[in-house]
Amino acid sequence: MAEHKNNDIHWLTGQFRDRSHELKYRDSIEKSVRFESRFALIVVAVLFAMFGITDYNLLGLTHEYYLLLTMRIVVVSSCLILAFVIGRSGGLSRNVWLHALPLWIVATGIVLIVPLRPESLSTQVTAIVVAIMAFYLLIPNLLTVSALASLYLSISFLAAAVVFAELSPVATVTIGLLIMVANIVGYTALLRIEFLQRKQFALLNEEREQNRHLEKEIAHRKSLEERLRTAAESDALTGVDNRGHFMKRARSLLQRSQFEKAPFSLFMIDVDHFKRVNDNWGHTFGDLILIKIVEVCQQSLRPNDIIGRFGGEEFVVGLPNTNAKEAQAIAERLKESVTAIKLEGDMSDERLSVTIGVAVANDEDDLDTLITRADDKLYVGKREGRNRVVV
Ligand code: GH3
Ligand code: MG
Ligand code: MG
Repeated sequence: MAEHKNNDIHWLTGQFRDRSHELKYRDSIEKSVRFESRFALIVVAVLFAMFGITDYNLLGLTHEYYLLLTMRIVVVSSCLILAFVIGRSGGLSRNVWLHALPLWIVATGIVLIVPLRPESLSTQVTAIVVAIMAFYLLIPNLLTVSALASLYLSISFLAAAVVFAELSPVATVTIGLLIMVANIVGYTALLRIEFLQRKQFALLNEEREQNRHLEKEIAHRKSLEERLRTAAESDALTGVDNRGHFMKRARSLLQRSQFEKAPFSLFMIDVDHFKRVNDNWGHTFGDLILIKIVEVCQQSLRPNDIIGRFGGEEFVVGLPNTNAKEAQAIAERLKESVTAIKLEGDMSDERLSVTIGVAVANDEDDLDTLITRADDKLYVGKREGRNRVVV
């Protein structure tokens, strides 16, 4: 709704009603306005200079001729200087007057021709009509600026014609009407252009806004996807890989190790007497202890080892590039760090421990065989009294 109001264009001036929006539009065309203005002013200066030839043909080397020549030199050099200045720093947002200035100088120059060459008024009427069109359509300006300068040119030309060329009332009305029609045509043509350009600008802006929106939406979806994937792959309580994801990763690590003829070991870890922990302290504390045990296990492992929750209080670890001896050392370290866990408060007497079954892969082993073997070792460990590593 607010955006709609932003894009409202004034029916008379052809500008956005919203001031800041209008300025944004003007900034967006600044570069092309500079270029076009410079080009147009050079064209105007050349044309204005060329008509000096007709001065000479009409007047010869008279006093009037020299006055006209001086005037033309002033106008032409002003146009060229302004073309240079506008080319460097002219924008329709901050320097509107700079763009209006050449129009007013040219208009004054044209009007000054009347008292100096009153007998050539009929040609000058044609020149005025062309100048009015040029004001509206050749030199880039805001509609208001073009219209004001054109009005100044029209009225002062008509006044000069009446005073210096002694125009009859009928001729005055005829020329006045002609000039008025030229103004109306120029005005409506430029108004249409102003409207169309601003509408295009508004559409472009809307499209950009939508694109930005879309990009944000895509980024949001990507992060959502990422979160969903993490949620689908990890265990909700401990944050380590869930069983499915662990199996996938371990399978590919095992295959790679076998391909590279590198050793691969696997731990099956089970928390000892965990049912008793739950019974004594409740399920919530049981959960916290599981989290703590996982944390301690992760600290004992290396960056390339992977750990997953196999189910309940059982965890499974995959160790690439690890032979039996290394695996045993790591398992012992892991087991010790669990025993070293100190619980607080009432639970401080509770001793935690794990039993670990270790299996090392042969060339033909698949993951399930390896897991079964580690599980068997774990079972042996349990039978032999728990809190131990069995390789
Ligand atoms: P053992 O030394 O023979 O392994 O004895 P245990 O008590 O650990 O063995 P058992 O398999 O009989 O018991 C496992 C217990 O772990 C039973 C179950 O209530 C508990 N458990 C499994 N998953 C969770 C869990 O997510 N949170 C909590 N708090 N307890 C769990
Ligand atoms: Mg168990
Ligand atoms: Mg257990």
